[in-house]
Amino acid sequence: MPGTPKRARPAPTPAPKPAADTQAILQRLYGQHPNATTELDFTTPFELLVATILSAQSSDARVNQVTPAFFKRYPDPQRLAAATTAELEPQIVATGFFRQKSKMLLGMAQALLDHHGGQVPADMDALTALPGVGRKTANVVLGHALGVPGLPVDRHVLRVANRIGIAQAATPEEVETQLCAALPREQWTLASSTLILHGRRICRPTQPLCPECAVVEHCNFAAEMRTAAAAQAARAAKSARPPRPPHTLPPARKAAGAAQAGPPRAGRKPTGRR
Ligand code: SF4
Repeated sequence: MPGTPKRARPAPTPAPKPAADTQAILQRLYGQHPNATTELDFTTPFELLVATILSAQSSDARVNQVTPAFFKRYPDPQRLAAATTAELEPQIVATGFFRQKSKMLLGMAQALLDHHGGQVPADMDALTALPGVGRKTANVVLGHALGVPGLPVDRHVLRVANRIGIAQAATPEEVETQLCAALPREQWTLASSTLILHGRRICRPTQPLCPECAVVEHCNFAAEMRTAAAAQAARAAKSARPPRPPHTLPPARKAAGAAQAGPPRAGRKPTGRR
């Protein structure tokens, strides 16, 4: 219709880098963080399940301080399910959200007894049906304790993958899908652990250490930073040029200006001034 303003087209969603590039980038990161693995201490799938639930909103180091005594007291689902929240809370208080986590641990232990004979199931759907177990926790347990490749996406993986451009997505589930599609299945767990370590050590949330990064030449975020820095430097150089003094023209323009003005008009009285 004439006169109707055209609607602006939404910007296309950027695509992640091609699979071959993603694989090459991960190879470089494997070199920078050799043999990356989970930093949670555990000896059985059940212990890793407990530790991963405790690690929500906490650090692995803090969880590792709490778990040795906890695992000694509750080495299996039977012993844990027989406990009460009042007993558990003081033992895990250092990990934060201890009331909620106590309830989750009891519910998880009871569900293992009720539905899985006290064993941790090696299956994503069965794991995520347990109280307190989301996709990230399930992938950690599958990949690190049960030999089933999984690609846990935590806040580090989410940030680092998007910065580099090997994923372009806002949610952990989408990032997991994109990375899993680009990487061989047997690399999923290692890739996640490597990106987590990279996020903790190098690609920090604020002030990432780009000059120390093995993939700085392949990273979208670093390229954007370089472009922004060059533009800023150009603006600074422009504003630092000394201003031209008023009423002065370059010699060429001065001569052209004089020629345009022509000879002095006849009949004009000489002023005597030169
Ligand atoms: S170049 Fe910088 S932003 Fe990119 S992954 Fe490395 S540390 Fe992170």
